[in-house]
Amino acid sequence: MTSSETQALTDGFHLVIDALKLNDINTIYGVPGIPITDLGRIAQAEGMRVISFRHEQHAGNAASIAGYLTKKPGICLTVSAPGFLNGLTALANATTNCFPMILISGSSEREIVDLQQGDYEEMDQLAIAKPLCKAAFRVLHAEDIGIAVARAIRAAVSGRPGGVYLDLPAKLFAQVMDAAEGQKSLVKVVDPAPQQLPSPDSIARALDVLKSAKRPLIILGKGAAYAQQDEIVRSFVEKSGVPYLPMSMAKGLLPDDHPQSAGAARSLVLKEADVVVMVGARLNWLLSHGKGKSWGEPGSKRFIQVDIEPREMDSNVEIAAPVVGDIGSCLSAMTKAMGDKWPAVPADWIANIQTRKDVNLEKMSAKLMSNTVPMDFHSALGALRTIVKQRPDAILVNEGANTLDFARSIIDVFKPRKRLDVGTWGIMGIGMGAAVAAAVETGLPVLAVEGDSAFGFSGMEIETICRYNLPVCVVVFNNNGIYRGTDQNPTGGEDVAPTVFVKDARYDQMMAAFGGVGVYATTPDELTRAVNEAMDSGKPTLVNAVIDENAGTESGRIGNLNPQSVVSKK
Ligand code: ADP
Ligand code: MG
Repeated sequence: MTSSETQALTDGFHLVIDALKLNDINTIYGVPGIPITDLGRIAQAEGMRVISFRHEQHAGNAASIAGYLTKKPGICLTVSAPGFLNGLTALANATTNCFPMILISGSSEREIVDLQQGDYEEMDQLAIAKPLCKAAFRVLHAEDIGIAVARAIRAAVSGRPGGVYLDLPAKLFAQVMDAAEGQKSLVKVVDPAPQQLPSPDSIARALDVLKSAKRPLIILGKGAAYAQQDEIVRSFVEKSGVPYLPMSMAKGLLPDDHPQSAGAARSLVLKEADVVVMVGARLNWLLSHGKGKSWGEPGSKRFIQVDIEPREMDSNVEIAAPVVGDIGSCLSAMTKAMGDKWPAVPADWIANIQTRKDVNLEKMSAKLMSNTVPMDFHSALGALRTIVKQRPDAILVNEGANTLDFARSIIDVFKPRKRLDVGTWGIMGIGMGAAVAAAVETGLPVLAVEGDSAFGFSGMEIETICRYNLPVCVVVFNNNGIYRGTDQNPTGGEDVAPTVFVKDARYDQMMAAFGGVGVYATTPDELTRAVNEAMDSGKPTLVNAVIDENAGTESGRIGNLNPQSVVSKK
């Protein structure tokens, strides 16, 4: 016998899979094709869960949401050039949202790509990915796969989490090496996201500022939800007694009906607060950059900011007390340093907020009860609000314009990480990817509340939902178009207006086409019945909820960002 007959061998395919599994990563979201088809097959054979999508963007969105829910990098696997580019949108979105994910793409032959000789799907993917993610690596030798996967994992989850690109040329997969050597080359990452303790000075400074407040406010962001330090966050909020506002994906970190929630008095507290504690939230456009009219008198506030990323401080306004470290370490240090005699929040501030909350909630509750046909956003969301309250474990996915804005304020969330939405960019198209990941990672029922336009971006993935028989109920708020279904072509020509879709489209029949349950609902009662049945049965379901086509407003609540022509329209 020759030595090569006795020697056990491994190859690039197996080393990639072994490296992921060694690091407790057991699910891949992707789309198969050249050169990674066999990678998916072998991964499945080796016991990994491989979820194939119809388009890479949705696989990528699923991976990023898996990362957000589990604190482990979600894996998205794509083919070269076009597949890579489709996945890249999700990678950039993950980085922007601070979600840990790794985009693994096959790529063409380096020698041909670099000489630009026109290979199959030729593209310098590494160079293109680099500016859109936290880190990007390419592996040329099988013996480097272990180190590369380790670096990718660490880059994705340490510090501020984000997206990482891993470029694997086709030739790498077929490279063969000695199995024992290969095994030795793998790296199990020790402590991939180390605790980052805040300095004692920064804690003392923050408490000095907080103590001086007459009208303090806490803003909780999705970084705080991501951290999975729910009890520490709750103790800090409750011990301080300070009213809080959750950013949309931080809803439920404390239950939305918590007495300290100022969600229903949002504009009042933003305007009037004198000290604002930012916890895992950024002062970006979603908070008007911490300045301008919605923030009241210029110079009327001081900010304390708790964040793992030092460079987030002073990004928009001066931060009087930066607290840099991980949420758990920072908030537990602050709570501890408050001691036993922490002063109560001034009663008049609490009372003002309560009065405003009562007025706003009263105003809203009347609208939610309406029973008109066709439904409007309030009556349809009133029905879903009740269902989510009765089923606090279900995961809510939400996108659209009006459908997003209304649902965010109407549907209360009661547990952490139960609301997934359009995030920092406010993008459309995250819906079905997020729904698949939520169902796969948690096994819990998912309710996706989708504008008809938003649904269109990822709608084909309902086949994926049916194929894996996932407990996802999609509700499409169908008002025949973008914002509204009523725009007219001003020229009287044959084409409909650019914001208008086919009238009375039957999205429910799409779901039925793939073997799922499709329901056409015109009243809150029909909607309630259909969603409850779906949540009980766990069967893939799509409810086409007919909404008055006059009901929406331009761009939902961010119409101010949509420039309108001042020159008279024809
Ligand atoms: P939101 O949109 O909900 O306001 P953002 O995504 O804007 O939230 O902000 C999240 C912030 O949380 C980012 O600045 C990020 O650096 C921070 N962050 C993420 N994970 C942690 C963590 N474990 N500890 C502290 N800060 C974190
Ligand atoms: Mg619409």
